[in-house]
Amino acid sequence: RPGLPDAFGRALRDLRISVTDRCNFRCLYCIPAEVFGRDFAFLPHDQVLTFEETTRLASLFVELGVHKLRITGGEPLVRRDLPVLIGELAALRTPTGAPVDLTLTTNGSALRSLARPLADAGLQRITVSLDSLDDAVFGAMNGVDFPVARVLEGIDAARAAGLAPIKVNTVVRRGMNEGSILPLARWARAEGLILRFIEYMDVGHSNGWRLDDVVPADEILATIAAELPLVPAEAQYRGEVAGRWAYADGSGEVGVIASVTRPFCGDCTRARLSADGHLYTCLFAVRGTDLKAPLRAGETDAELEARIRAVWGGRTDRYSELRSEATERLPKVEMFALGG
Ligand code: SAM
Ligand code: SF4
Ligand code: SF4
Repeated sequence: RPGLPDAFGRALRDLRISVTDRCNFRCLYCIPAEVFGRDFAFLPHDQVLTFEETTRLASLFVELGVHKLRITGGEPLVRRDLPVLIGELAALRTPTGAPVDLTLTTNGSALRSLARPLADAGLQRITVSLDSLDDAVFGAMNGVDFPVARVLEGIDAARAAGLAPIKVNTVVRRGMNEGSILPLARWARAEGLILRFIEYMDVGHSNGWRLDDVVPADEILATIAAELPLVPAEAQYRGEVAGRWAYADGSGEVGVIASVTRPFCGDCTRARLSADGHLYTCLFAVRGTDLKAPLRAGETDAELEARIRAVWGGRTDRYSELRSEATERLPKVEMFALGG
């Protein structure tokens, strides 16, 4: 099946579902504590999609050609009873009868107890974010002094539960964790984890992003290659966002998501469904399309599907390719709100 094309011919293939805008971390590049303090108003519970509503919308996307679902947030594991939702999504089938690819991105803080129930419910893979193996660096970046050891326990639990392969996401921010690049690479290689470094992006409008704070992919790769020689690996599929590199000695691979220095909008097949039921067609969107209101007003599947078709059909986003001073200043929706 070719999939639903947008205005540039990019098919709708992946859906990122944010199940909450809340998080127990205050990563300085995402929900900086000084902007989002105690009195910040996250979504009221009645504005968040129920599991039933999320599953119904997800099923429409799958009907339209989506074959990969990624659960995200905010921190998805703070959503109560998440394994119940995973069970419902795992039961979805594509029009050809195949199960959907179902994965989740988490900060790992609650994985020690939740890895097993999530796997039992049908979660297949997992991505854990971890910016350093050094407690001082990690604590400063996560904003709440969360210890590295607890995330490592979560990763162990995920492995024991059979979630595989396990990916690790590391955002690199100049002056914070360049020194963590090599230790993370050595560790992930030894542990058989797929590590992906992410260039610090100008998502939202609260993290005070400056181009100078971005450590470019080439610099990240050079840092690793100085000790561990790398050779390019083939992309596994069109639309893969990570540039992939294999260790020359065959001991595994590492990726870099270079959305700033090497934008990949031409292959971007991702839609995002926010916790409050808005459809976004770009990570850097200024606004989304409300699907929750029509859903709650009683629209039929066909009517909701027509809305999704119309939005995707008219999609012209390519923010990263157009990034400029003017676009950096747009009042973009925060990443934790629309689903990272
Ligand atoms: N809370 C979960 C977590 O941290 O994995 C899931 C949501 S988080 C928004 C998804 C991913 O986006 C994480 O890997 C995080 O590191 C990354 N991220 C957040 N803000 C970013 C930024 N400004 N630039 C690049 N990546 C960012
Ligand atoms: Fe929370 Fe993830 Fe954002 Fe960090 S990156 S503040 S863990 S949502
Ligand atoms: Fe996709 Fe928007 Fe990122 Fe481009 S900037 S790759 S269109 S999410």
